[in-house]
Amino acid sequence: MPAATFELVVPPPSDDSTRARLGRLELSHGVVETPQFMPVGTNATVKALDPTDIAATGATIILANTYHLYLRPGHDRIARLGGLHRFMAWDRPILTDSGGFQVVSLGDLRVVDDDGVTFRSHLDGSLHRFTAEHAIAVQEALGSDVAVAFDQPVAPSSPRAVVVEAAERTHRWAERSLQAHERPDQALFGIVQGGLQPDLRAASTRFVASLPFDGICIGGLAGDESAAERAATLDVAVGVLARDPRPRYLMGLGSPADLLEAVHRGIDLFDSVMPARVARNGQLWVPGGRLNIRNSRYQDDPEPVQADCPCLACRSFSRAYLAHLFRAQELLAYRLATCHNLTFTLDFMARIRAALRAGTFPATLPALRVRAGRVSHDEASVQSA
Ligand SMILES: [Zn+2]
Repeated sequence: MPAATFELVVPPPSDDSTRARLGRLELSHGVVETPQFMPVGTNATVKALDPTDIAATGATIILANTYHLYLRPGHDRIARLGGLHRFMAWDRPILTDSGGFQVVSLGDLRVVDDDGVTFRSHLDGSLHRFTAEHAIAVQEALGSDVAVAFDQPVAPSSPRAVVVEAAERTHRWAERSLQAHERPDQALFGIVQGGLQPDLRAASTRFVASLPFDGICIGGLAGDESAAERAATLDVAVGVLARDPRPRYLMGLGSPADLLEAVHRGIDLFDSVMPARVARNGQLWVPGGRLNIRNSRYQDDPEPVQADCPCLACRSFSRAYLAHLFRAQELLAYRLATCHNLTFTLDFMARIRAALRAGTFPATLPALRVRAGRVSHDEASVQSA
């Protein structure tokens, strides 16, 4: 049996009113219905939640960071302890990222050459080197359901020459990642780069799609691009992929409004730290907008954060109680707020899937946009008030 099978349950309509599709991705540890959002468990934990909490949010797959787990506690140690699923007691699907983004964004004094990246650990300054082969070996040791080929991401707004060079490296590393990958129970996704320029993005998409990957990641977005630039770039990449039967994963996107637009443009999978990060800042997502639980007006509010929400916070606790926990900096605040925002996000994806299943999807876009609210990408940088 292959490590991943992807079936289009409801393909996009032939009238081109949307490229959204309903899918079913079967992996070694279970089935993932798409479109789907993956909460991020950076250090083999979704911050503040245990596996029971994570499952209760509706999550069926999570992402873990190859770079972080390689540095601490070490992929060999996790392998000796039975692999990542056993280590973190999560028996459902896990995707590990390539490590490329963290190596470039967190590693100090990094030097990128055609063979790989040498960098200093952001934890202790020790010297390390990642190549395509090493990134695959680390992910095989972790034992994730889905591994991702090593890439060199660049900021969307990078100059053309920088984008060209990084895309060429990413393509060579994609071929080497496929050569190196051996684990039969692990799927391997390749990453498209190419920045915002249509010809480079199209060429990178064509190249990566020509290789026998199990899925296609679209990298180099969810950065400093505008919503219009992102939409145009997705249209180029998805247009090239056309009827390619594999799942498409846009890395790093997380606000409900952004997820909705990307689903509409043909994306199946997403991940982001954003819902959990803004939750820990006291920003709680509700239909049509958000609620800053640190605001003094909630200190006497006996209502739940969101009346019809099934999450741990809304089932038992009032806005007043959460407002108190945040003011007192109690640890439970982070757990409850994270449960709520992830539940909201995963419920939103479930609503999109229900509309696709019912055949009402482009018609329900306005209502879904209202529910998503105007939470923007910039919110990821909101600081504690
Ligand atoms: Zn809730």
